[in-house]
Amino acid sequence: MITLLKNIECYCPKYMGKKDILIAGDKIFKILNPQSCIVGDEIADIVDCDGLMAFPGIIDGHVHISGGGGEGGFSSRIGKINIEDILLAGITTVVGLLGADNQTKSLKDLLAVAKELEQQGITTFIYSGSYSIPIITFTKDITCDMVIVEKVIGAGEVAISDHRSSHPSIKDLQDLATKTHMGGLISGKAGLVHIHVGDGKFGLNPLNRLVAESDLPIEQFLPTHINRNHNLFEQGMQYAKNGGNIDLTSGEEIGVAVEDAIELLIRNEIDLKRVTISSDANGSNPNGSNPNGGVNRIGTLFKDVINCIVKKNIEPEVVFPMVTENVAKRIKQYPKKGTISEGSDADILILDKEYKIQKLYSIGKLMIDNGNVL
Ligand code: ZN
Repeated sequence: MITLLKNIECYCPKYMGKKDILIAGDKIFKILNPQSCIVGDEIADIVDCDGLMAFPGIIDGHVHISGGGGEGGFSSRIGKINIEDILLAGITTVVGLLGADNQTKSLKDLLAVAKELEQQGITTFIYSGSYSIPIITFTKDITCDMVIVEKVIGAGEVAISDHRSSHPSIKDLQDLATKTHMGGLISGKAGLVHIHVGDGKFGLNPLNRLVAESDLPIEQFLPTHINRNHNLFEQGMQYAKNGGNIDLTSGEEIGVAVEDAIELLIRNEIDLKRVTISSDANGSNPNGSNPNGGVNRIGTLFKDVINCIVKKNIEPEVVFPMVTENVAKRIKQYPKKGTISEGSDADILILDKEYKIQKLYSIGKLMIDNGNVL
C-alpha cells in the first residue's frame, strides 16, 4: 500500500514547512518538496492535505492499559482501556504498566492487553513490576524479563514517597536499578526504572540520594507525576537542572496543570529535552471529588498539549517533542518512533488549523479519517 500526503505542513516535530509525505507499507519512504513527487493514482492513494498539519503519532509512556486496581474496594477496580479512546487522543504508541494493585491485576493480563492493542493496530510496550519492591516479574528476575520478554523495556511504576508504596530503602532501589540496567545492556532496550512519586513528604529525595550514592546513569530513571504538587514540581525542576529526566501527568487538577508547568519550565530555562508528558490513563485517582469519577482519562494528554499551544501560545514544535521525540528517546525507540523522518514508522497525526484530529496513521494504516475511528 502506497499513500501520498500532498502539501502538508510538516512538524517532524521540528517545523519543516510544506512537504509531500510518501508512505510505503508501514514506513515513511520519502519526504519531498511539494509537486516533486509524481505518482499516479493507480499506484498510490493520493490525499490532498492542503490546510492540514502533520505531527508524529503521540507516544503515551504511562498507561494502565489493563486498568488500575481502584482504591475503594473491589467495586472500584478499573477496566481495560479501549483502542478507540487511544486513537481519538492521537496516540499510536503506549507503554502499559501496573500500579498499586498487583494482587487482582497481573503482569500476564497486562501483556495480553498489550498484545491485543497491537493486534488492533498500535505499538505497545510494557514495564515489569508495580508499586512494590521486591517487584513482580514474569521470570522472578527483572534482568531475565528484559532479555526474554520482548515487550518489557524496564521496571515500573515503582512507588516512592507514597503511603501506598512498599517504602523501599535506597539499597532496595539500587538493587532494582542495577538489575534493570543490566537487562537494558544485555537486551539493547531502554532499561528504564519508571518511578511513581507520590505526595509523601520526602518527594524526590530518595531518588536524589540513589543517584548521588551510586554509579548508575541518571538517564536510567524516569520519575513521573512531577506536577502533582508544587513542592514536588520545584524539586523536579532542580532534578532536571542536574541532568535528570522528568515526566508530567496530564489532566492534573490539584497540583500544577500541564500548560502552567510547561510555562514555568520555559521561564526557569529548563532543558525541555528532559521533559515528557503522559496520561496515567485508566489508573485510579484517589481524589473522590474528581469529576472523572476517580479514573484518569487518556484524552487529557492531547487536550493538555493543545492547551499549551492555544492558551499559552507555545509553538507546536516546542510542545510536541514532549509527547513524541523525547518519549521515543526515553524508551529507546528513536528514530523508529517519535519523528516524521524517512525510514521511520508511518505513525502520523494530522490536525486541521483548529488543532482538531482529522486523520491518524498508525504503522502505515489509516485509523482515523475525518475525525472518526475506522
Ligand atoms: Zn503512578
